[in-house]
Amino acid sequence: MNEEATLIIIKPDGLKKSLTGNILTRLSEAKLKIIGAKVIMVGEKLANTHYRHLKDQSFFPELIKYIQGGLHGENRVMALVYWGRGAIGKVRRIAGATNPEEADPISIRGAYGRILTTGLYENVIHASSDPSEAEREIKLWFSPDEIVRKLYPVKEESVSGTTRRVWQ
Ligand code: UDP
Ligand code: MG
Repeated sequence: MNEEATLIIIKPDGLKKSLTGNILTRLSEAKLKIIGAKVIMVGEKLANTHYRHLKDQSFFPELIKYIQGGLHGENRVMALVYWGRGAIGKVRRIAGATNPEEADPISIRGAYGRILTTGLYENVIHASSDPSEAEREIKLWFSPDEIVRKLYPVKEESVSGTTRRVWQ
């Protein structure tokens, strides 16, 4: 198993239901390292870019509303980067299947997810699905200085006199 990083997002339903502590406890079973964590509000651009692979799906507009908190009156999400051997697969297993009805009942999605009457899967957490998606998503959600490990190449960028580190 390769050492790798994966992105986890505790979605607005997870925060609304006060599941944050519970989810972090479940994820600790994987014995991975947290190398980045923050609570943020998701803007429309971030939402659209994150879920760009689903833009042609009928549920896309509702999914965008969901991740932005529009279905829960809760505009926070918690974004985390976990690192370690086989991190992507380990976290996906603890998260459970995308459809909460098909997910292992002991998984996070199986235990706490539900299907809305509109058909949308309200499934509590996002977890990267493969190494290239993990890299794309981590670079999208985090800047280099928000992660306590050198993951990907970085460059310096100067904007009106101040220099900052960005992904190459
Ligand atoms: N989703 C949905 N219905 C579907 C497929 C996906 O509501 O038939 C939602 C669900 O919230 C899911 C998200 O869209 O977590 C992203 O879908 P993806 O296929 O990437 O599943 P994931 O990687 O989250 O398991
Ligand atoms: Mg996915």
